[in-house]
Amino acid sequence: MSLHPNLQPLFDTVLRRNPGESEFHQAVHEVLHSLGSVVDKHPEYLAFAAVERLCEPERQIIFRVPWLDDNGDVQINRAYRVEFNSALGPYKGGMRFHPTVSSGIIKFLGFEQTFKNALTGMPIGGGKGGSDFDPKGKSRLEIMRFCQSMMTELYRHIGEYTDVPAGDIGVGEQEIGFLFGQFKRITNRYEAGVLTGKGLSYGGSMVRTEATGFGTVFFVREMLKETNRTIEGRSAVVSGSGNVAIHAAQKAQELGATVIGVSDSSGYVHDPRGIDIALLRQVKLVEGARISEYAERRASAKYEDGGNIWSIKTDIALPCATQNELNGDSAQMLVDNGVRVVAEGANMPCTPEAVRIFRENKVLFGPGKAANAGGVATSALEMQQNASRDSWDFDYTEHKLDEIMTGIHERCAAAAEEYGHPGDLVTGANIAGFVRVAQAMHSIGVV
Ligand code: NDP
Repeated sequence: MSLHPNLQPLFDTVLRRNPGESEFHQAVHEVLHSLGSVVDKHPEYLAFAAVERLCEPERQIIFRVPWLDDNGDVQINRAYRVEFNSALGPYKGGMRFHPTVSSGIIKFLGFEQTFKNALTGMPIGGGKGGSDFDPKGKSRLEIMRFCQSMMTELYRHIGEYTDVPAGDIGVGEQEIGFLFGQFKRITNRYEAGVLTGKGLSYGGSMVRTEATGFGTVFFVREMLKETNRTIEGRSAVVSGSGNVAIHAAQKAQELGATVIGVSDSSGYVHDPRGIDIALLRQVKLVEGARISEYAERRASAKYEDGGNIWSIKTDIALPCATQNELNGDSAQMLVDNGVRVVAEGANMPCTPEAVRIFRENKVLFGPGKAANAGGVATSALEMQQNASRDSWDFDYTEHKLDEIMTGIHERCAAAAEEYGHPGDLVTGANIAGFVRVAQAMHSIGVV
């Protein structure tokens, strides 16, 4: 897809400066493609180089993480923190532990995060981090030693007013706990607001664990509302079976859908009677077993090794696993099977080809930077509670999350309408996020 003539040279610079980082190129291209009508209406954004500056992280930190495994052998991993943009507030974004983590992956996630955080309307900039450390198969003590070693370097770059990491793939409450403990020890400061996703016993927020998945489903509810429809009575398929997927499946069922498929990186289960959320939690969160184990214990479920979860006929599709997991062929299969709504619980799970197919076939499409913003929004609520030394109950916090997701949907829809793309939430999300950051960048000058 060609870009606005004033934006193409900026994209060429991104390609030249970041060779081989295809996911980052993909994320930048998608945003720049949406901004044509914005730079026509507001040429001043080009004049003060808001777009160029947004494509270049403010700071990138890469460091070695040495740690001792249970055999006493030294292991070495590489870690990253990309502090992308702080025009709206301290850098904010998760840490990912997965063997595929690289500079390009973290950059794409940090770039997306900047727009996502702007869309929430909250005072948070964008950042992201992680390591190629693979927590799978590691003991609790190995994970603790890794986290402590990582924080021994990371602590000097973060802080409640500087950069506030959280979880992502492979980083949950356990890892945040180890990271927080080491931060506290090194700095001799109980700075609760330095990390979010903390446990409830030491400054965590109610609903943070559930927030991304719940928020994605609230966003789907808003999308359906636009066309006078509801979630109730519809079938849904959710890819992945981690934090985001489990809570998306839970909320979808609470709102009356029947979730008939979930997956992991080995395969998927099809359960036409509806996923038993308690069993799914037991298998994945308590036992850390493979998704095949779910089918072993549930008569109505069938496990497919490998295979494509998107071959299941469904009304609602929620990709909640990882980037580029849903390609053009899968999108076509979903369309042929009558899918009505697709919302990205994961970051950039749909390839550009898949998004094109959904749009051409008038499938309601919720882009990740809007649909999965509930996680970071609740992290910002956690920071708010930490700053005021307060803690809110579950219902109050969930209600706040619901309001935020409704607001994000409204902002995306309004921006799409204002710039001549009614109903196009991809363009609307990119524009609404961009405009908020660009206005702040304009106000604070060239820094
Ligand atoms: P988890 O580590 O909790 O879960 C990830 C899940 O995705 C696992 O079930 C994993 O299976 C599966 N998965 C990973 N890679 C693949 C693959 N190639 N094919 C199929 N399944 C795969 O991570 P989260 O749930 O936290 O994150 C999921 C997505 O949501 C990511 O894109 C993340 O960036 C995004 N996100 C997360 C937020 C959060 O608050 N946690 C906030 C906003 C976005 P297996 O166990 O086999 O690896």
